Amino acid sequence: MPAGSPKKYAYVTLVTNPAYIAGALALIRSLKMTGTFADLVVMAKTGLENIEALEESADRVVKVDPLPLSEEFQQAHSSSAQQARDPFTKGIKPAFHSPLDNFCKLRLWTLDRYERIVFIDADALVIKNIDKLFGYPEFSAAPNLYSELADIHRLNSGVFVARPDLATFRQMLQKLDTPGVFWRRTDQTFLEAFFSDWHGLPYIYNTLQYVYFNLPELWHPTQIRVLHYQYEKPWQTDHPKRKQLQPLIDLWQQVADGGPMPEELPATTAPTR
Ligand code: UDP
Ligand code: MN
Repeated sequence: MPAGSPKKYAYVTLVTNPAYIAGALALIRSLKMTGTFADLVVMAKTGLENIEALEESADRVVKVDPLPLSEEFQQAHSSSAQQARDPFTKGIKPAFHSPLDNFCKLRLWTLDRYERIVFIDADALVIKNIDKLFGYPEFSAAPNLYSELADIHRLNSGVFVARPDLATFRQMLQKLDTPGVFWRRTDQTFLEAFFSDWHGLPYIYNTLQYVYFNLPELWHPTQIRVLHYQYEKPWQTDHPKRKQLQPLIDLWQQVADGGPMPEELPATTAPTR
């Protein structure tokens, strides 16, 4: 590629409120340590303040507005409505997590200066280079494995490969907000329905932190490429899973503080079944 020509590939994350800024900064640090060739892009909600550090460390910060969603849709996907209708039973989402904001991820389909985008949640760290994902088709994602193997047929939307395209974005908006609709796990459920023939990535491209204690047989410290702190966040001052996850929280903190990525992830001490 000639020097200075625009890049075709980008890692994109989303930050809609101040509580996710620290996550995005750690994610960007981790990506830089992998020596990636792609642009590092943050979609930041319009009006979000104190984004200087993001602007300094990312290649590009793109301002995004919430999607034009009906009042009915917004009410059905508020934190309290979601909790009343289909509560989380296996972990706790922090109070700063707004389910409605998750749908902003869909804005990445408008970033059509890029041929491929790998989206990564702001609560993840890239442990080893994953640039080969830019050669994967839309829509590729890893399974939602964190509790039991039976969940292998579901996808997790913390890491996925997309091909930005305005026509796709328009189709998504049409399908998203219809009378009476309820996407029980927000963007994740929607993307699973929209791309019903999604391509499966190996779980090492999006290893959920609960694998560490729930599925120790899948915890391969040398294989895991992306570690995703789903549910409780490593930057929360305290949370109920802290004791079980301490080595992973320490790892996140080390990267957030500007330290190196260890050669290998911590081993799990949980007994295999
Ligand atoms: N997000 C955000 N603000 C919110 C909720 C979500 O910026 O209020 C973004 C952020 O990138 C986050 C992702 O959407 O990592 C998905 O939410 P989260 O990671 O908290 O969900 P989980 O992985 O626990 O299901
Ligand atoms: Mn996440």
